[in-house]
Amino acid sequence: MSSVRTRIPPSPTGYLHVGNAWAAFFNWLFARRHGGRVVLRIEDTDPTRSSPEYERAIYEDLRWLGMDWDEGPDVGGPYGPYRQSERTELYREAAEALLRAGAAYPCYCTPEEIEQERQRALAERRPYRYSGRCRTRPEQEIRALRAAGVRPALRLDVGRFHDPAWSSGWLERRREEGGPERLYVVVHDLIRGEVAFALDELDDFIVVRSDGTALYNFANVVDDHGMRITHVLRAVEHLSNTPRQVLLYRALGWEPPQFAHLPVLVGPDRRKLSKRHGDAALREYRDELFLPEALRNFFALMAWYPEDGREIFSTEELVRRFDLSQVGRASPVFDRQKLVWMNGEYMRRALREDPERVVELVAGYLVRHGLLPGPPTSDQRVYVRRVVEVLGERIKEGSDVLRYGDFFFLDLPRYDPQAVEAYLRGEQAAAVLRLAREVVQVVEPYRADTLEGALRSAAAERGLSMRAMVHPVRVALTGKTVGPGLFELMELLGREQVLRRLEYGELLCRSAQAPV
Ligand code: GLU
Repeated sequence: MSSVRTRIPPSPTGYLHVGNAWAAFFNWLFARRHGGRVVLRIEDTDPTRSSPEYERAIYEDLRWLGMDWDEGPDVGGPYGPYRQSERTELYREAAEALLRAGAAYPCYCTPEEIEQERQRALAERRPYRYSGRCRTRPEQEIRALRAAGVRPALRLDVGRFHDPAWSSGWLERRREEGGPERLYVVVHDLIRGEVAFALDELDDFIVVRSDGTALYNFANVVDDHGMRITHVLRAVEHLSNTPRQVLLYRALGWEPPQFAHLPVLVGPDRRKLSKRHGDAALREYRDELFLPEALRNFFALMAWYPEDGREIFSTEELVRRFDLSQVGRASPVFDRQKLVWMNGEYMRRALREDPERVVELVAGYLVRHGLLPGPPTSDQRVYVRRVVEVLGERIKEGSDVLRYGDFFFLDLPRYDPQAVEAYLRGEQAAAVLRLAREVVQVVEPYRADTLEGALRSAAAERGLSMRAMVHPVRVALTGKTVGPGLFELMELLGREQVLRRLEYGELLCRSAQAPV
């Protein structure tokens, strides 16, 4: 086993969204590629927004996606606890270490004082940075504040790092053209290359709030170090946190892990992924019948471009071939159309290899959409199975089940007004339906092939084209102009249903004619 250790650090403040699932998948893929370990850490430091229900939902969704982890709150491991809310003591110890090292100082500033500083910066049109006032607050004042029971926050003393004794060997001295020499925190990002942050642009940030709780940057560093994380693959939104985290590692005398900041997913409009273009909870995709293997394949191809241009990869292949150095910096487009296409490919495979799985999924979908009253009886299951066979490759996502097959589960179809307008108008259409009804009444045996034969000859006898027969019949039976093969669906609907719908169609032809 290699020494690679990655982490998946969701905050249980909501359902896992595709963006986070995508980053989680990359951490998983990278660790598995290198025979390393995956750590799941629950970042629940915000008690007002975190909930155990969301935590459970995150496990469920990650497992559904096919992720597994070697250490985590639910499976244990040598570097736990794996829930931040249970690590308070570790943060406290690290905070003391910072104080002992002289790298942090208590800050007694009130929210009002901070607000004043912020307003001043705003008025002077400069970015707000904490003034460092508590760094030099007179001892006497501090004593008084303490006596009054004011509890301080803890801030990192960033100014300290200007002292060579603190920074030699890892802060870099650089001079930008014409400018003064400055110190830089240089991050060697595995995706972005070298990213330099000027030290003097970082202010003395808070690491522990006055109520004793650790802030994200601090908890993250204590945890990533404590959990022996070697590679942090995360969204580029966190890149601006990285120099602060590096300072914390160094202040504590620890070596930072390697960082790789993944690009932001964008929609086809090139803007940050929005609800309209596919930003949704992973479970919404599950509910829309996206298959986890299709999502994994799709996720892998966002930002990672295999050289041969192939698109379909099994997860085993992805694990074998994944190469972080091929992950680009450009924002990958979350192309829902492509995902639907890919899901269609995997659906086809599932239909071939495990049709019962598809039946199960489709039955669940029908229940959720009110087309089945509850878990299917064995008869209903057989029926769903036949519907799935008839719909076949048309099912690329859940909505296709309704788009092409809702009428199988309705007493009468939902008639598309445009289809009615086009095909169920007037006496001629009514006569076609009547003819079809006569054929259906007597055809024996009642099967797709015999239905087709009988309808064809009936049409030919009257000098009707098959088109003129098929369209009105289809609309009368299904309510729409698109769908599975007409004779197959007639067989499946059964003689009685077909007769009823044809008769109803005739009524529609005439009522459409009636003056309004
Ligand atoms: N809990 C943080 C998030 O979900 C983790 C960020 C990180 O990967 O460092 O954004």
